[in-house]
Amino acid sequence: NTPLSEADPEVAQIIEHEKYRQFAELELIASENFTSQAVMEANGSALTNKYSEGLPGARYYGGNEYVDQLERLCQERALSAFKLDSNEWGVNVQPYSGSTANFAALTALLKPFDRLMGLDLPSGGHLTHGYQTDKKKISSSSIYFQSMPYRVDMETGIIDYDRLEENAQLFRPQLLICGASAYPRDWDYARMRKVADNHSAYLLCDMAHISGLVAAGEQESPFKYCDIVTTTTHKTLRGPRAGLIFYRKREGEDKKESLEARVNQAVFPSCQGGPHNNTIAGIAVALKQANTQEFVEYAKQVRANTQALAKKLTSYNYRLSSGGSENHLVLWDLKPLGLTGSKIEKVCELVNITLNKNSVCGDKSAVTPGGVRIGTAALTSRGFKEEDFERIGELLHRTVEISLEVQSQCGSKLLKDFMAVAAKSDKIAELQKEI
Ligand code: PLP
Repeated sequence: NTPLSEADPEVAQIIEHEKYRQFAELELIASENFTSQAVMEANGSALTNKYSEGLPGARYYGGNEYVDQLERLCQERALSAFKLDSNEWGVNVQPYSGSTANFAALTALLKPFDRLMGLDLPSGGHLTHGYQTDKKKISSSSIYFQSMPYRVDMETGIIDYDRLEENAQLFRPQLLICGASAYPRDWDYARMRKVADNHSAYLLCDMAHISGLVAAGEQESPFKYCDIVTTTTHKTLRGPRAGLIFYRKREGEDKKESLEARVNQAVFPSCQGGPHNNTIAGIAVALKQANTQEFVEYAKQVRANTQALAKKLTSYNYRLSSGGSENHLVLWDLKPLGLTGSKIEKVCELVNITLNKNSVCGDKSAVTPGGVRIGTAALTSRGFKEEDFERIGELLHRTVEISLEVQSQCGSKLLKDFMAVAAKSDKIAELQKEI
């Protein structure tokens, strides 16, 4: 029972440094959050020692009395957090992450080489929604299945549902995926359902980014329209790193052919082994917390903060993809300024602002993204309000102005030359001290 600081001071120190970094920097990565002490405790508990392949009441190992209680509690809380009736929906809480949840869902719904359509990565979609480039199949979701992406309209930044419908007529997908990693607008699920129905396709929503907002009623719920809903648990939902798969139950269905049976089989044994019970405990705690009025207030504040940030950036005449935001993130198009997302990400890092480069509509390739993605979920968890995000907007404006000066002094387009000049900038040093 030697404490970590004595057993392994090297690792203990790295953890302390990371903890300090997280709290000293302005954390604006849209997929991150600060989970609670209670979730951390559950996640670091003795449950990590236990093997429990199978489902509650039907395990391949002994000694699962408490693990069964835990997994059932987590399932109940997952349904309750999203206001779901257990006669209509079930949930598998074992996926290790969002990516494995998605691959298990595809395994449950499709046969190898079946056809799927998801939002293209440069349009804000996730890798696991069938990502491939012109030259290469990148994600296992495009390697094992045939993928045809749909995209946002290049002018408006909003999903081009008409084009999606037209392309679906040609491609005849067996699965349509909604949900994204970098899309600042809510979804027209009714329209997606109609397209799916035209081709007797399944409709899956990966609500990873917005699941906390959905639980709080701050985004439309995909459950009304979809057959399967997947999510990560660590973004706006503020839990530990993991995934969930919700599946629709149908009255009178053949149990063996049901989505329930197919999803459970796909998670284990098709895609995973033993569940991470410590993580499931952390999810259960986070779901309890997400099912409170306090969390509803948090989700409202996340949206209000995003609006405040969007307004501030727009007041400087910057271009935001889709002109604003309805959720927890803004996508800032830097192309009109002649700056790349990589340069601003790096300069922000120098001044202790953490965000990430991101493709924005009109980008030629995902390799050189023309913008940055900024999320408000993490700092809202730390109590930031609208006026704080206005100040962040001002700091970002100053960062961009300094970056433009650096670019004009640099005379090279290369990131490394740009950063060499930036590292010597007094203005950057001043801004770093201020933040
Ligand atoms: N789905 C979406 C929409 C995501 O944005 C992400 C990650 O950012 C994932 C799935 C993958 O989650 P994980 O990193 O837990 O595998």
